[in-house]
Order: sequence, then structure tokens, then C-alpha cells
Amino acid sequence: SRAACVRSSANVKVVVRVRPPNPKEQGDNSRDVVKVVDEQVLIFDPKFNPQSFFYHGVEQKGRDFLRKANKDLQFMFDKVFGFESTNEQIFEDTTKSLIKCLMDGYNCSVFAYGATGAGKTHTMIGQTENPGITYLTMAELFKTKETLQDERNFELGISYIEVYNELVQDLLNPGAPLQLRDDGRYGVMVSGIKIHKIENPNDLFTLLAKGNSNRTQHPTDANAESSRSHAVFQVYIQMEMKATREVRAAKLSMIDLAGSERGSVTGYGGARFAEGANINKSLLALGNCINSLADGQKYIPYRDSKLTRLLKDSLGGNCQTVMVANVSPSSLSYDDTYNTLKYATRAKKI
Ligand code: ADP
Ligand code: MG
Repeated sequence: SRAACVRSSANVKVVVRVRPPNPKEQGDNSRDVVKVVDEQVLIFDPKFNPQSFFYHGVEQKGRDFLRKANKDLQFMFDKVFGFESTNEQIFEDTTKSLIKCLMDGYNCSVFAYGATGAGKTHTMIGQTENPGITYLTMAELFKTKETLQDERNFELGISYIEVYNELVQDLLNPGAPLQLRDDGRYGVMVSGIKIHKIENPNDLFTLLAKGNSNRTQHPTDANAESSRSHAVFQVYIQMEMKATREVRAAKLSMIDLAGSERGSVTGYGGARFAEGANINKSLLALGNCINSLADGQKYIPYRDSKLTRLLKDSLGGNCQTVMVANVSPSSLSYDDTYNTLKYATRAKKI
């Protein structure tokens, strides 16, 4: 049964989620540049078809969209989610299947990648009335725990930290930056981190809300809600098989990555620039690690950033990884969307 959850070809699943346009993106100087073709294919910057060009349901006349050549690029992923997709559906098609792997003792990780405003936090955390995949996955984990109760003893704990400017902070117990160390049981650990025991998924909302309120946020020119930190939610699962006394440990990491937009567009020098450089460092290192794993290389550059050091034991090998690449549908985010699709495509090679 251990082998059952390990897919023969790929331990990395890459999906793209296109969020609905916001009011600004429904204005006159915006057009959709992402067309979902089917469950796996999307076209970026599709060619304008004058025969049937409708913009948000209204036929467009006399607009010269042909001036600039369209890229008209087709991308294929494990799954493509359009406007109408819900957090429930994302959960069903991505992280739900990770529970079995965790029960078998394999580490799993989930990343939300994308520019600021693309929908990462909506996907990972959501709102109380519309919970994101972190909560939904935890609820499923508790359900599974119930069904296995007769054969195993469980211990569940969580931590919530951020990597900001290459420094690790405990979001549930803010203080001085923490160091990373290797732990025999769970692999890489944050030294001095407090692991919070949780008994049911509802404990989670309080902890997530508390953690989120401690996240580092800096307004920038580009977007007042820009988030420049990587938020890392980790679940530690220890299981003792009642019959054999065998102990299994597994770790689930769910990461709301910092905005992938380029530092240059934010218009900050000085401190903000260094901040941007470090964020790019972690995102770049993550991309490089995933690419090296994809290419089957022996050397994986985990040590190139805090984020990849932290996730060293949760990427590659028998670990399962899910990447949710979030994009806006609008031409106003043309470059960000294009860059995100390229990053996600590289990750897909595994
Ligand atoms: P990010 O975390 O990537 O910066 P957010 O998740 O905060 O982006 O999303 C930006 C805004 O768009 C938020 O107001 C959020 O509620 C909204 N939003 C994002 N994704 C969706 C979606 N799939 N459906 C509806 N609203 C969404
Ligand atoms: Mg966010």
C-alpha cells in the first residue's frame, strides 16, 4: 500500500487557477488574456477573432486589438481551474489525495504561487465562510484520523511561520528570528518553534487568523496589500500502529508564497529593494530545486535559500508536491501572468 500513492512518473502536480476579473479589470482598458480551453489546457494571449469577439458578454466594435501581435500560446497542466472554480474543487483535485501519502508516512508540500492579487491567499486560507485548501485539507485529515483510530494512535501538531527577508519568524509566537536545524524525527526543523497541538479543524481558524495578523506586510506603489513574505503552515503527524508499535511520522507543508512580481515594478529603492532581492532569492531557489529534481539531477541546491532549506525534506524523493499557480485573467497583469505560466511550466517537467 505504500507504493500506491507514489505516482510512477511524477510526484509533482501543477495546476493553474484563473481568478474572476475584479471591477477594475472589467473596465475599458482591460481585456482577458487567459482563455481556459478545457480541464488541462489554456491559451495565453489568444488571437483576437473578429467574427466572435465578445468582451464580458458584450460584442466589441471598432477596437483595434490587432495592432500588437498576440502570443497565442497554449499551455498544458495537470489541471486548469477557471473563474467558476471553488476552493472545494481545488481541494478535491489537488490536496485531498495527499492525505493517503501522509498516512503512509510521506512528506507532502503545497505551494500557492503567483503575483500579488492573483488569488494565493484566497486559495490557501480563504475566509471563514469560504475556507481555503489549508482548512479543507485539515478537515479531511481529521476525518481520516477518525476512521483509523482503532488501528493507530495519532498526535497532530502545527506551526505557522513566515520567511521574510531570509529570516524565519514564528507567526504564532512572534519574537527574535529563529534558526533552522536538523531533527532526527521530522527532518529540518525551526529551532525553538512551538508546536501547537490541535484537536479539531476549528482550532485551526483561530490559529490561522492569529498567524495571519502577524504576517509582515508593506504597502508598495504597485499594490497596497502586497505581501512580501512566504507564509509556511506545517502539520506534524505522528502515528503509532497499535498492532506493531511501528511509529510513522510525516509532515505536510502548505505555503502561501510571497508575490512573484518583479521588484522593479514596485518603485522602491533601499530597504524595499533588498527585500525584493531576497524574496526573489527564495522563489528563484525554489524554482531551481524543482527544476533540478525534474531533470533528475543528483545535486539539488536546497541550501540556496531559507525556504528551500526548510523544505529540503518535503521536496523530491517520495514526497508529493502540489503547485497551485494563481493568475489574474486580465491584460492589466499581462507580464505577471506570462511569468507565472512559464514558472509553472518549468515546475511541471518533473
Ligand atoms: P494574493 O494572496 O495572491 O495577493 P488574494 O488571494 O488576496 O491574492 O486575492 C486578491 C483579491 O481577489 C482578494 O480580494 C480575493 O478575495 C479576490 N479573489 C482571489 N481569488 C478569487 C476567486 N477565485 N474568486 C473570487 N475572488 C477571488
Ligand atoms: Mg496574499
